[in-house]
Amino acid sequence: MNFGFDLDGVLFPWHENVYQWCRDNLDVDVSYREFWSWPDGWFGSRRNKPFIHDIVRLPELYLTPLAKKTHIKAIHRINRLIPGEIHYITARPVEVTDATKEWFQFSELPFSDNVHFTKKQGGKKEVLLKRLNCSFYVEDRVDYAESVLGVSNLFLVNRIWNEGFEHPDVVRIKDVKDIPNILERGL
Ligand SMILES: [Mg+2]
Repeated sequence: MNFGFDLDGVLFPWHENVYQWCRDNLDVDVSYREFWSWPDGWFGSRRNKPFIHDIVRLPELYLTPLAKKTHIKAIHRINRLIPGEIHYITARPVEVTDATKEWFQFSELPFSDNVHFTKKQGGKKEVLLKRLNCSFYVEDRVDYAESVLGVSNLFLVNRIWNEGFEHPDVVRIKDVKDIPNILERGL
């Protein structure tokens, strides 16, 4: 049994980076909550605009901070509890492939060669998860969570953009570091 992780909003604070970048470079003066409320917050209501298309392709927003030590520890523990491979499956734009690889190079996460870009491989997380035999997946977005439910057991990290979403087969967590204890107790 293999275990899959999303990156942004799960292992990497991309939303914090985008918020900070927009405050520094654009005329953004709303709270983090207002910025990321979904789908009508500052970002969500502009998500199809060309300038947003450019912002999400800025490599600098994918390089720091490196993976949290608490996450690295948790993933090692998960791997002992569920022996198998760890995979990282992301819908990041292909333009940030090098930045992503650089982040993994310095982040010391286990199985760091197992990085998969859905946009290079058919476009769907559930297809990749099935192909990679991932019985578990950790996600932060509702749309992906719903599409993955039939394939993997799902952990959903509590975020502003998924507030209110409930599903009997979804296990909500505050942080990746909560997962080992949940697995030990039994799902
Ligand atoms: Mg995500």
